[in-house]
Amino acid sequence: MSQIAPPRPAALWQAVASVLDPEVPVLTIEDLGILRDLHLDESGHVEVVITPTYSGCPAMDAITADVVEALAAVGCHDVSVRLVLAPAWTTDWISEVGRRKLQTYGIAPPSHRGDGPVPVALSVRCPQCGSADTRELSRFGSTACKSLWSCRSCLEPFDHFKAL
Ligand SMILES: [Zn+2]
Repeated sequence: MSQIAPPRPAALWQAVASVLDPEVPVLTIEDLGILRDLHLDESGHVEVVITPTYSGCPAMDAITADVVEALAAVGCHDVSVRLVLAPAWTTDWISEVGRRKLQTYGIAPPSHRGDGPVPVALSVRCPQCGSADTRELSRFGSTACKSLWSCRSCLEPFDHFKAL
């Protein structure tokens, strides 16, 4: 008689944490900060708690499907995904690792909102050359989450992940 070892929550978390965001495929849902919690009960049921990003991003269905698939790959087939809308996600939840990945990917990371008003338009630096001499071309870039910018120094266009 063989016994299947029960899955460990840490291993399940790792499986789910590697799911990529469909809108920004360089970031995992853990990098984005939208993966909030994971519960495993005695019956083997796994509940994953996710706070969606922008309401305009039609990515949640894809993320839910990917989470279910990632858990199935490690042997968990009894999975539910719960969406928690409050507190609302902000770009401040993006991890430092996530911000570095965005920069490497050529997307200007969102500025920290902090406490006071942030002069967002002045704080967007070109991810290619680092110049602050940039201007917004369009409020919407390749997705609703991003705006399209242009750099006056290296003349390259780039996406800026909007701060929320
Ligand atoms: Zn530049």
